Amino acid sequence: MTNLEPFPERIYVTRPVFPTIEEVTEKLRDIWAAKWLTNNGPQHTMLEHELTEALKVPYLSLFNNGTIALIVACQSLRLSGEVITTPFTFAATPHVLSWNNISPIFCDIDPATMNIDADKIESMITPHTTAILAVHVFGTPCDVVKIQEVADRYGLRVIYDAAHAFGVEIGGRGIGTFGDISMFSFHATKLYHTVEGGALTHGDAHLKQRIDLLKNFGIKNEDEVVMPGINGKLNEISAAVGRIMLGYVEGERLKRIRLHAVYNEELAEVDGLTLMPPCADDVKLNYQYYVIRIDEKVFGRSRDFVYDELRKYNVFARKYFHPLCSEFTCYRQLNSASPANLPAANVVGQQVLSMPMYGGLAEDDVRKICAIIKSFKC
Ligand SMILES: *Cc1c(COP(=O)(O)O)cnc(C)c1O
Repeated sequence: MTNLEPFPERIYVTRPVFPTIEEVTEKLRDIWAAKWLTNNGPQHTMLEHELTEALKVPYLSLFNNGTIALIVACQSLRLSGEVITTPFTFAATPHVLSWNNISPIFCDIDPATMNIDADKIESMITPHTTAILAVHVFGTPCDVVKIQEVADRYGLRVIYDAAHAFGVEIGGRGIGTFGDISMFSFHATKLYHTVEGGALTHGDAHLKQRIDLLKNFGIKNEDEVVMPGINGKLNEISAAVGRIMLGYVEGERLKRIRLHAVYNEELAEVDGLTLMPPCADDVKLNYQYYVIRIDEKVFGRSRDFVYDELRKYNVFARKYFHPLCSEFTCYRQLNSASPANLPAANVVGQQVLSMPMYGGLAEDDVRKICAIIKSFKC
């Protein structure tokens, strides 16, 4: 029998993966020997090369975080006016549009994948639309084919927020090769990290030049500053940690695959719970997150009830993504933010709960968390 006492220590939704202190010390010695801390140092150059291969992309530019990378992506494509995006994402996604003086236009989501509903994008296009900013939410790929079709028909750019999608592939192709540009976040809580950091990936050598100028104040050489750039540079210590973490990412992914299977096994038969969407045949997922949806009418308890009660057992799940970005005070006045325009997103936002998921979590702990959830059902 499962013991339904509270866990002795708090279980959080995630824990950063730590390299050993010895590995970091060794790399720090290299940096100290090179006497180079930032601005395209040797660690930065090597990590850019290694990540280009790991993510199977033609070009990659490193950044100090994913948000600055996404701001620069919009600048590099000279986007303006309106950009169609999803309300079911982290705050950074619509905020980067605001930082570019672009109006986010919220499009409803597909309740099966929780990604932007590619069939609804067309109805949100106006003469001001310049791009689609889609998010591979929880690492599930968007309908990249349909999104590109709509974009091509209307002459729109496509940017993917791939912050959740490190290492995801479709038909053996890196997820970062779809659309005009993809952004990856290497924040400490992501599957792969550089403490803080990020990258843009794309298939155009000219675009890489422009992105690399934009992330370094627009400085071309000692005599020329050619555009109003920003400071988006990744430092050598973060780059060195990133090089070490490349050796951890597949092991972490495999541990999470196992925990996914345990959650699926324990929760599959519970009425009123929707589990992660199944993996399509040609897709390689990264298993970074485990998210459930709770239908109060069938389960008998609301998501908020489950969230609150789990805390009493020392289980700190998170309501990702609630509130929706369309509910933020800075966006709720937009026409596209009205709940009538976003019925699926509003339902999903009330139902989602992100469960503890990290390699250091024990299988037995996952079984106990599932037993606790099942004990709430009525
Ligand atoms: C983490 C995240 C970001 C922001 O990345 P940072 O590196 O923290 O700036 C953007 N979008 C999504 C969907 C994210 O999860």
